[in-house]
Amino acid sequence: MNALEDEADFVIVGTGAGGATAARVLSAAGHSVVMLEEGARLVTADRPRDLLGAMAQAFRDMGTNATEGASPLPLLQARCVGGATAINSGIIWRLPDDVRRDWSERFGLGELVDERRLSEAFDAIERELEITDTTPALWGGNAALMARGAEALGLPGKAIARNATRCKGAAQ
Ligand SMILES: Cc1cc2nc3c(=O)[nH]c(=O)nc-3n(C[C@H](O)[C@H](O)[C@H](O)COP(=O)(O)OP(=O)(O)OC[C@H]3O[C@@H](n4cnc5c(N)ncnc54)[C@H](O)[C@@H]3O)c2cc1C
Repeated sequence: MNALEDEADFVIVGTGAGGATAARVLSAAGHSVVMLEEGARLVTADRPRDLLGAMAQAFRDMGTNATEGASPLPLLQARCVGGATAINSGIIWRLPDDVRRDWSERFGLGELVDERRLSEAFDAIERELEITDTTPALWGGNAALMARGAEALGLPGKAIARNATRCKGAAQ
């Protein structure tokens, strides 16, 4: 294999939500960035629909990782361009204010979790990732039943917000 030579102001290892965000912020600030990714670039049309194929293509150690401890739990991690954003559900949930306050008080995060600045950041994320509530046309049977149940019981509820504005409900 030929060695690849390149140079940049920053090298980011991993292309998941963390690496991609860092790359975006750094390049927007005028820096050159190289991103390294261990896994493959997934192309929707070529993604296997069977379990073994999908796990082998996109998941670290075929999805067999687990936590250590008295009661080990499976721990899914992606290994592909986009990291876990390529396999996750696209659910976007703002940090609840009671959690924000708790983090601020217990860990002294102060400005990092300032209400106004966080709210501006959430606004930008929601705009840029085209986040919307999942439309009824894309609900599965469970969600539709849940909506009917909530309505019948007079309980508040709404479809969860996702970054899947042009989702066709094909489960890919
Ligand atoms: C099945 C699943 C569903 C989820 N659903 C949601 C959801 O609906 N909403 C939500 O907000 N969050 C969800 N999450 C969580 C969210 O996707 C993750 O928290 C987030 O993507 C983590 O980003 P990250 O950049 O920290 O790490 P990762 O996404 O894990 O990215 C790390 C990347 O680095 C690469 N890498 C690691 N080591 C090296 C190396 N040495 N060299 C090169 N590359 C390397 C990996 O291959 C990987 O691509 C879900 C997660 C999973 C697993």
